[in-house]
Amino acid sequence: MSSFPSGSLDVLQQVFGYDSFRGDQQDIIEHVHQGGDALVLMPTGGGKSLCYQIPALMRGGVGVVISPLIALMQNQVDALLELGVKAAFLNSTQDWREARDVEQAFMAGDLDLLYVAPERLLTDRCLELLSRGRVGLFAIDEAHCVSQWGHDFRPEYLQLSILAERWPDVPRIALTATATTETRREIAQRLRLTDARHFVSSFDRPNIRYRIVEKNEVRRQLLAFIQAEHMGDCGIVYGLSRARVEETAEFLCKNGIEALPYHAGLSAAVRAQNQSRFLREEGLVMVATIAFGMGIDKPDVRFVAHIDLPKSVEGYYQETGRAGRDGQPATAWLAYGLQDVVQQRRMIDESPGEDAFRRRLSAQLDAMLGLCETVSCRRQRLLAYFDQSIQPCGNCDTCLEPPEAWDGTVAAQKILSAVYRLWRERGQRFGAGHLIDILRGKQTDRVQQYDHQSLSVFGVGADLSEQAWRGVLRQLLAQSLLAVDHEGYGTLALTDGSRAVLKGEATLMFRREPEKKSRSSRSGSK
Ligand code: ADP
Ligand code: ZN
Repeated sequence: MSSFPSGSLDVLQQVFGYDSFRGDQQDIIEHVHQGGDALVLMPTGGGKSLCYQIPALMRGGVGVVISPLIALMQNQVDALLELGVKAAFLNSTQDWREARDVEQAFMAGDLDLLYVAPERLLTDRCLELLSRGRVGLFAIDEAHCVSQWGHDFRPEYLQLSILAERWPDVPRIALTATATTETRREIAQRLRLTDARHFVSSFDRPNIRYRIVEKNEVRRQLLAFIQAEHMGDCGIVYGLSRARVEETAEFLCKNGIEALPYHAGLSAAVRAQNQSRFLREEGLVMVATIAFGMGIDKPDVRFVAHIDLPKSVEGYYQETGRAGRDGQPATAWLAYGLQDVVQQRRMIDESPGEDAFRRRLSAQLDAMLGLCETVSCRRQRLLAYFDQSIQPCGNCDTCLEPPEAWDGTVAAQKILSAVYRLWRERGQRFGAGHLIDILRGKQTDRVQQYDHQSLSVFGVGADLSEQAWRGVLRQLLAQSLLAVDHEGYGTLALTDGSRAVLKGEATLMFRREPEKKSRSSRSGSK
C-alpha cells in the first residue's frame, strides 16, 4: 500500500494535481473517510470518481470499486497508475495469470484501488479473496443499474446487498448520475443503504443549450445542424436502432463529416476500436444506440444529437450530459415528430410483461413528450423532473425563441370527429397520413377506393397545411387525447380524453414551432 497525505485537500492537490474541490466533493469525502455510507447523485462530469478515490487512499486498505463498465477499467487503472496510485482490476478480459497477479497484489496489501465487475465480485472466489484482505471501502458506481425500470438494469446489482451483510463495518458509497427521487429510493433500498447520507448535487448544466425541433427529414436536418453549428466538432448522435445508426453514419460520411457507428450488432473488436478512436481523435462523430456512452469521459464533446425520441427524461438527460463536460458551450439537439409518438406508444403496448411495467414505461414516455411539447423553459422542465427548481435559463430554444401557442381546439375536434365517424359509420381505422388527406380534402387513390370524399369531414381541414396537421396529431397523441390502436398498424383511435374535446369541454393550446413559421406551405392556421 502506498502512503498518502492525510488531509483530503492535500491528496487532491498532491496526488491528483487539482487546486480545489468541486461542489459536494469534500463533504462526501470527509463523510466516507469517517466511515459513513453515502449515496451520491451528481450529473455526468460532476466529478464522482474522486469521491471514492480520495477516501479510499485516506482510509488505507483497498478501495473496491464495483463498476459495470469493463471496457473502461483499463483506462481508469492506467490513469491512476500514472498518478502513483496502485490500482488494478479484475474482469473477464484478463487471462488467469493476470488475474492471479492482481489477487496476489491484493493479498500482499499492495493495492490502493481494485476495480471489479459485479458478476466477478459475486463469485465465491472473489468474495473469499476480499474477506482475506483488508477492504477500506466499497464504491458502487453506476448505482442506478440496480433499478429494474431503467434501461441500464443489471441483475447482478440486486445481489450487491451482500456487501452490507458480509462487511457491516466497511463504508459503502453508491454513485449515479441518474436522479429521480424514485430511482434514489430504489437504490437506497435495494443496496441496503438505509442509513446512508444522501448527497444530491445540482443537476443543472448551464453550458448545454437545449433545443428540440420538429422532425421532418431527420438526416438532412441533422446534417444542416452540424454544418451550421458544429463543423469539425466532436459529437454523439443517438438513434434507436442498429439500422438507423448504420445508415446515419454512412450518410454523414458521404457528406463530409467523419462519423463512426456504434451498436450492439457490431463485434466487440469493432466497437472497442471505434470507441478508442472517438476518445483519442478530434472532431469525430459517434453515431450510436444507447449502448454507447455510459462512463465515457471525453471532456470536449460539443454536441449530443438525438434523431429518435428517447424513452425517458432520465435517459435523455444522462445522454445529453455527455456534452460539454469541460464547461464550454455545447448543444443538445433533438428531432422529434409524429412518427416517434406513434412508434413508441405501439412499442409500449406490445412490450411483454406486467401491466404495471407498461404503465411505468407509458408514464416515462409522457414525461418525455411533455418536455418536447412544453412552451416554457426546457431546462426548468428537465430539472423539475429531478425535483430541482430554477429560473428560466436563457439558454434553451424556448427561452431564446419563445414559441407561440395557438388555440387548436377546433382543429382537434375536426380530427377526432373524423376518427369517430370513420369508426362509427364505416368500422374503419386509419393512420395519420390518410386522416390528414381526408381532412385536407385530397383526392388520393385511397380516398377514392374507400369513397372517403363522401364523408362529412372530407375537406373540412383545408385551411391547415399537412405539416400543421401533423403537429396537431402529434400533440393529441402526446397528451393521450388520441391513441395508437393496439392491433392496427399505427392506426388511430379515440381515448377517454377525446370525449371532452369533442364535446367542447376542453380548450387545447398547442405549440407552434418557431421554425415552421418561415415555411411557405403554411396558410393561416388559426
Ligand atoms: P463523473 O464520474 O461524475 O462523470 P469524473 O469523476 O469522471 O465525473 O470527472 C469528470 C472530470 O472532471 C474528470 O476529467 C476529472 O478529472 C475532473 N475533475 C473532477 N473533480 C475535479 C476537481 N475538483 N477539479 C478539477 N477537475 C476535476
Ligand atoms: Zn430555458
